[in-house]
Amino acid sequence: MADTTARAARLERAAAATGSAGFDALVVPPSPDLAYLTGYAPMPLERPTLLVVRPGRSPVLLVPALEHPLAAGSSAGTLVELVSWSDGADPYDAAAVLLPRSGRIAVGDELWASHLLGLQAAVAEGVFASASPVMGPLRAVKDTAELEALRRAARAADEAFREICRTTFIGRREDQVAADLASFLVGAGHATADFTIVASGPNAASPHHEPTGRTILPRDAVLLDFGGELGGYFSDISRTVVVGEPPDGFEAVYELVRDAQDAAFRSVIPGVAAQEVDRAGRALIEEAGYGARFLHRIGHGIGMEVHEPPYLVEGNAWALAPGTTFSIEPGIYLEGAFGVRIEDIVAVTPDGAERLNRATRDLQVVS
Ligand code: ZN
Ligand code: ZN
Ligand code: ZN
Repeated sequence: MADTTARAARLERAAAATGSAGFDALVVPPSPDLAYLTGYAPMPLERPTLLVVRPGRSPVLLVPALEHPLAAGSSAGTLVELVSWSDGADPYDAAAVLLPRSGRIAVGDELWASHLLGLQAAVAEGVFASASPVMGPLRAVKDTAELEALRRAARAADEAFREICRTTFIGRREDQVAADLASFLVGAGHATADFTIVASGPNAASPHHEPTGRTILPRDAVLLDFGGELGGYFSDISRTVVVGEPPDGFEAVYELVRDAQDAAFRSVIPGVAAQEVDRAGRALIEEAGYGARFLHRIGHGIGMEVHEPPYLVEGNAWALAPGTTFSIEPGIYLEGAFGVRIEDIVAVTPDGAERLNRATRDLQVVS
């Protein structure tokens, strides 16, 4: 995990990025951004807690008085100045003291609308905008410790995949297999299992299918997409397995998705635009005539959140810098028949890319 020195450097980078994005201040509510910058992760509440970052000035954390001991005892206590406000006082007036009377103020996406409305009333001449152009690029590029945390999470998800392949699928319900997947994720070291998609037979034609009581049958293809949190960072992997003999037409589609995943992976080099990775995978699927059945972008950033910038999607020219981590997850979804998705988390390296997942992409046959 990040230490005080690393967090202090993050706060400095955030202040510099606030200025270079044309903002006078950055306001961060309880969120992964706040945890990233200070290590402090309180509950978002009706009583606002707000980190105020300004270029060239020391960061200040505005906290409800009753949470002052909590904040002071956290890593934020040594990193930033704490200013508390008491019940009965106006927290937005307390925040306004720290903010420019006019000028541009970037606010974190998780800031509740009620708090934003309060800030807007208290800083009537301020221009408020989303902080994602400031925080997105900072969070996207992982340092060595973060990459190691993501590698550990990915390896634990790989282990859960190996375990699930050894269980029996035939005659069991999707939700039972999903419960097994959750326990394997935790058994492999995850603190929490956050999602376990088990989509069998025609159910896999819906990319975000929720596991149901459907009983898994011989010749079903079963799409598994699962992950959780380990050491503050997330795993997210998809594999599609078959129960005995594959359904008609399955193998060619599987090979196509696998080749598309590989082509997208091979397109990753430092500086490549996010949309180019999507294009590299999508081109193969389109050439094969399944373009309309690839229903989503090819991937998303991952780190302290499962989905975070950058998004690998047509129209996003974001240049992928070394240290950036994201999923590559093409899929083909055939209504009434089956769906296939193969997903790995990858990291941009100084000369290419690294797959953080190592689970086999060879088609696995389960019983
Ligand atoms: Zn998804
Ligand atoms: Zn996934
Ligand atoms: Zn994903």
